[in-house]
Amino acid sequence: MEYAHRLVGNCLVNLPVGKVVCVGRNYAEHAKELNNPIPDQPLLFIKPSTTLVALEKPFTLPRGRGSVHYELEIAVLIGQQLTCVSPQAAEAAIAGVGLGLDLTLRDLQSELKAKGHPWERAKSFDGACPVSAFVPPEQIADLHNLTLSFWLNGQLRQQGSSAQMLTPMLDLISHISHQFTLLPGDIVLTGTPAGVGEINPGDTLRAQLEDKLSCSTQI
Ligand code: ZN
Repeated sequence: MEYAHRLVGNCLVNLPVGKVVCVGRNYAEHAKELNNPIPDQPLLFIKPSTTLVALEKPFTLPRGRGSVHYELEIAVLIGQQLTCVSPQAAEAAIAGVGLGLDLTLRDLQSELKAKGHPWERAKSFDGACPVSAFVPPEQIADLHNLTLSFWLNGQLRQQGSSAQMLTPMLDLISHISHQFTLLPGDIVLTGTPAGVGEINPGDTLRAQLEDKLSCSTQI
């Protein structure tokens, strides 16, 4: 596998490449735009390690499987094993904060949802999780007030703040750790703000986390 975790500035992180745990509908406005009810507890799903690629490099989209949607999300790199931990312990285990795209075969996901089937076919294809380099946690002043922005071909499409999350980041990581263990090198994707849409080959993407991190790529 080509992917490895990196810090901003491009030095490698000495952690294995693990699973990606994702949360659906963690921003009310995004739940609304897809006509989904707001869940009463975090809606969790997993992307395997084979979905990971670098967000800064061109990546390929699946062909002939319907529309592919971007969902820009704050990505948290886990540095220690977490089993049934408090939000405080979750905070101490963060090895980096970055950005990820939860790429989704939206037509297929809609079919799966209608049948009550799991979403892996729509969300876990190879390359379905491009992630950026990570900002060291000591450079993040307030995890719960971070702005993320996404431009498609120069147009601002998504902008949100971690302050809008229905389950705040540390509560979310704590909650996940009570369902299953997070291991060093796992990533948690924390949900997408409103403004998701289709991407196509030839598009230029730019993602930004405040003034901490900015990356762009052409697909
Ligand atoms: Zn998502």
